[in-house]
Amino acid sequence: MQHSPKIRRLVALLSRLPGVGEKTAQRYVLHLLTADPQVAKDLGGELTTLHEELRPCDRCGNIAEVSKGAAAGEAVSCDICRDPKRDPRLLCVVGRVHDLMAIERTGAMRGRYFVLGRLLSPLEGIGPEELPVPRLTARIRDEGITEIIVATPPSVDGEATALLLKRELSSLGVAMTRIASGVPHGGDLEYADPITMGRALSGRQAL
Ligand SMILES: [Zn+2]
Repeated sequence: MQHSPKIRRLVALLSRLPGVGEKTAQRYVLHLLTADPQVAKDLGGELTTLHEELRPCDRCGNIAEVSKGAAAGEAVSCDICRDPKRDPRLLCVVGRVHDLMAIERTGAMRGRYFVLGRLLSPLEGIGPEELPVPRLTARIRDEGITEIIVATPPSVDGEATALLLKRELSSLGVAMTRIASGVPHGGDLEYADPITMGRALSGRQAL
C-alpha cells in the first residue's frame, strides 16, 4: 500500500490538516477505500466547491455562505450579521473564527462580532499596523456601536491585542469590557466548554 503513488499523495495532503499525522492520514485513506464509495465522492464534491460556496463575511469576518448566482466580487454577509434579533450596539471582537464559534456555543452573546484574523505578536513580528483596526473603527462609527467586548484569548498575544484595542478605541467613547479569566491563562477559547466560556462572558470586566 505504501508504494501506491495515489495513497502517498492522499496521505501527504491529509497530513497537512491540523492535528492529523501521517498515521491518522493513512487510516483515513484506508477507511475511505473500504467504506461506501459514495462517502469519498461526497467528500470530494464538497471540497471542490468549498471556496466558491464559503467566504469570509465582508462585515465581520465570520464564515458566510455565498448565495447561488452571486457575482465573484459581490459582498457576502453571514447568518449572524443578517440576524435582526442581534443587538446592533454590541460588538464582540475576537481573534479568529474558532473563537467566535466557541462564544456562539454559549448562546449568551446578544451582539454581533468582528474577527481580527490575527493577534498582535511582537515575537512573530506582527505589529499593530497588521491588525484591521481602521476597519473596526469605521464599523464602530458607522453602526453606532456603544459597547465592545474584547474576547481575545488569555495569552500574552491576546492581552497585548486587548491593550492595543483599548488604546486605539478609547477616543470613540464606547464602553469596553474584557472577558473574565474563567478561561485558563494561555488557553485556547476554542477548547473552553460552553459553561466556562459563558461565565467568562458574563463576568466580563471594564478594560
Ligand atoms: Zn458577518
